[in-house]
Amino acid sequence: MTPLEEIIRAEIAERGAMGVDRYMELCLGHPEHGYYTTRDPLGASGDFTTAPEISQMFGELVGLWLAQAWLDIGSPERVNLVELGPGRGTLMADILRVARGVPGFLDAAQVFLIESSPVLREAQEKALTGYEVTWAEGVEETDDAPYLWVMNEFLDALPVKQFQRVGDVWLERVVKLKDGKLLFGLQKTQITGFSMAQPDGAIVERAGFGLKLMRMICKQLETSGGAALIFDYGDAQGRGDTLQAVRGHDYVDVFDRPGESDLTAHVNFGDLALAIGTCQANLTTQGQFLAAMGIDARAEALARGKDAETAKAVHSAHRRLTDEAEMGTLFKAMAITRAGAETPPGF
Ligand code: SAH
Repeated sequence: MTPLEEIIRAEIAERGAMGVDRYMELCLGHPEHGYYTTRDPLGASGDFTTAPEISQMFGELVGLWLAQAWLDIGSPERVNLVELGPGRGTLMADILRVARGVPGFLDAAQVFLIESSPVLREAQEKALTGYEVTWAEGVEETDDAPYLWVMNEFLDALPVKQFQRVGDVWLERVVKLKDGKLLFGLQKTQITGFSMAQPDGAIVERAGFGLKLMRMICKQLETSGGAALIFDYGDAQGRGDTLQAVRGHDYVDVFDRPGESDLTAHVNFGDLALAIGTCQANLTTQGQFLAAMGIDARAEALARGKDAETAKAVHSAHRRLTDEAEMGTLFKAMAITRAGAETPPGF
């Protein structure tokens, strides 16, 4: 049994069954034994790979988008560039490298990273050597300058609650202990706003902190302007139970060795869009976004004049990022801008 499983069992024994959100929070973020607290999960030797780790093309096109967003708000002298959950720092390094080509942007940008994992923070320090970067504790800090927010595969790591329709009522799906095993159970809870149009047995997920974050971003965009660019897997609506655990690039049971696999839920972009109040959200697939931002031409340029193996690797990365059967359709891109702003590039 993992040390974290003992802690989870003890908490259930003491306080009763825990929500799926609490289970996710402990598995991913426990200060001593949480998945992200204890390791760098990324890359071929890790548990999963992300778009910026697949190719520099991803971060470069995101960097161009952010620089354009800065130009679109009138090239302010100061802008806060904030990345949430920056992993190994690869995305921000690619963003900042390409941003050098946009006169004035790097001088204006104050870079903030929000990262809970000490291991990954160290990797970020290495990747961003030579740049002035600040690690912030949270997103609450206020500043008058506009903000540019960026996040890739961050929201899927935030805790969700699950609810299930059973006959005429909705119950909360919880993690309980039975016969010495962690199992799902159902319990009564105070909830509103669930539709009986969903079939009996349906499971619905509700983000907590993710929605709060969206409201906070929108409030800040309304006050001082800017934009947010969000990538993750998910859909414009919920897909039932999407809780999943991944270890060594394979799916495992969500109760198998808690704290040693990546535990995530698909992002419900429709719920996020509802949370942003007066701001506007644009949603497209990652494949369409990257195509509209010019990934074909970028891949050609990177492959030109290179040996066959390098050229092949560039084309293979292009395919992984954009193909329907790979990350192109399952992954979405969402932009959030102020009400009345023009539709941003890529959407
Ligand atoms: N964006 C990176 C990493 C994605 S993995 C990439 O695309 O490669 C998720 C990232 O979010 C990790 O860096 C993880 O440590 C961080 N993270 C997860 N939960 C967090 C939280 N509550 N607060 C801050 N960072 C968090």
